[in-house]
Amino acid sequence: MTGPISNPGEVWLVGAGPGDPDLLTLKAEKLLRAATIVFHDALVGPGVLDRVPAGVRRVPVGKRSGRHSKDQRAINDLLAEAALAGERVVRLKGGDPSIFGRSAEEMEALSALGIPVRICPGITAASAAAASAGMSLTLRGLARRLTFVTAHVRAGEELDLDWNTLADPQATLAVYMGKTAAPTVSRRLIDAGLSGDTPALVVENVSLPEERRFATRLDLLPLAVRTALGDGPALILIGQAVKKKKRTSVAEIVGEERASGEMAGDLSSCHDPDDRPSATG
Ligand code: SAH
Repeated sequence: MTGPISNPGEVWLVGAGPGDPDLLTLKAEKLLRAATIVFHDALVGPGVLDRVPAGVRRVPVGKRSGRHSKDQRAINDLLAEAALAGERVVRLKGGDPSIFGRSAEEMEALSALGIPVRICPGITAASAAAASAGMSLTLRGLARRLTFVTAHVRAGEELDLDWNTLADPQATLAVYMGKTAAPTVSRRLIDAGLSGDTPALVVENVSLPEERRFATRLDLLPLAVRTALGDGPALILIGQAVKKKKRTSVAEIVGEERASGEMAGDLSSCHDPDDRPSATG
C-alpha cells in the first residue's frame, strides 16, 4: 500500500473484533496508530483500546442495551465535527462494523456532509464464538445456510422475525443480542417446526479472559441463558453444526470446561446421547 493509510477529514469505520486484541486486523491496528481521535463502542474492551497510542484522544460513545449513553444522531454529529475539523477519525466498533453496528446510519450522515467514509472489516462475534468452540459454522450437507439475526427488541415491542424461514434444520442461526429474547427465540422456532433437541451454544464474552460457553439445546436455551450468564455480551448459535464441535477426549472436555467455563453441567442429562465426547471426536 502506498501513501498514508488515513487522511485528515476522513472517517474510518473500523471493526475491533470480539475483544481479544490479537483478533484485530493488522489494518485496524495501523488505522488506530494513524488516528488523531477514536470514538469507540462500549463493546470495545480495554485490551483493544490499549492499542490506541497514548496521545490519541479516545471518546466512548457506547450503547449497551437499555443504557444508551449517546443516541445515534449525537454520535453522527460528533464524528462529523471531528472530520470537518480535519481530524483523522476512527470509529471503532465491536466485531465487524457491517453487522448490527449501525454503520449505514453513520455512513449516510457523513456522506450527506461530503465527508469520506471507509470501512475496515473485523471478526464478527459468530466467527469468534465458533472458533473458540472448535466448530464450523457451516457443514457440508448439514448446515448449508448461515443466518445472522438480531433478537434485539425495543421495550414493549414484539420480536418480529420470519420464524418459518429461520426454523430451517439445515441452517446455523447466529443470534446477536439474544439474551433477553432467548425464551421467545426458543419458543417461536419450536412452534415453527424446529426440533426442541436442536443443539445450541451460548458464548458469553467471546475471546476475552472471562469467556464462558454453555452447550445446551433449543428447548433448554432460556434456562441456559437465565442461569448461566453474567452481564457480558453473549452470542447464541443454534443448529446441527453446533453438535459437531470437535472434541477429542473426555479428559479434554473436562479440562476445557474448567479452563474456559464451558458447562454441559446440570443440563448434561438432557443432551443428545451422540453429543457425548468420544475418543475420536
Ligand atoms: N458488530 C458486532 C455485533 C454488534 S451487536 C459483531 O460483528 O460482532 C452486539 C451483539 O454482538 C451482542 O449483544 C452479542 O450478541 C454480540 N457480541 C459482540 N461481541 C461479543 C463477544 N465478545 N462475546 C459474545 N457476543 C458478542
